[in-house]
Amino acid sequence: MPDGTTHLAINLGALALTGAALTVLHVPVLSGPGMALLAGGLIGSVWITPDLDMPGVRTAPLKAWGPFGWLWQPLIRVSRHRGVSHTFVRGPLIRAVYLGVMLGLTALLMSVLLKQFLPDVWRRVAALDIHAPVHLKILLWGYAGYHAMQVAHLIADRIPLNLKRL
Ligand SMILES: [Zn+2]
Repeated sequence: MPDGTTHLAINLGALALTGAALTVLHVPVLSGPGMALLAGGLIGSVWITPDLDMPGVRTAPLKAWGPFGWLWQPLIRVSRHRGVSHTFVRGPLIRAVYLGVMLGLTALLMSVLLKQFLPDVWRRVAALDIHAPVHLKILLWGYAGYHAMQVAHLIADRIPLNLKRL
């Protein structure tokens, strides 16, 4: 099975081929859907991979999160390496939903703390009236890119690679 570096090389190669195929098919890569697909694929290659399932091991995706790696610790602690995380549908969905829930909880906690301890800052943030436009089509293309790279990882895991690092 490939190590983290090989996984990344395989995924980035697949992404480059996807970009080339889209260009050949006259699908504009620099369009919203094309960029979302490739960005989702990059996220699914570097930051969110099936290997976020090894308690006590600083895997490549965990390292990529830097100081925010703690976000994944609850999921990592209940995961079994190559268990549900390495399934084709449930694993990628669980990671995406999990991240959404963790980011939502973090935003909620931040707003509660700001209201409680820095009410002036909270009033200024609330006055900004931030509304991020969420385009479902773009979100779905991004998810498709992410999910495709999870599948690429799982296929690569099944290849009996025994390459020494160059
Ligand atoms: Zn794996």
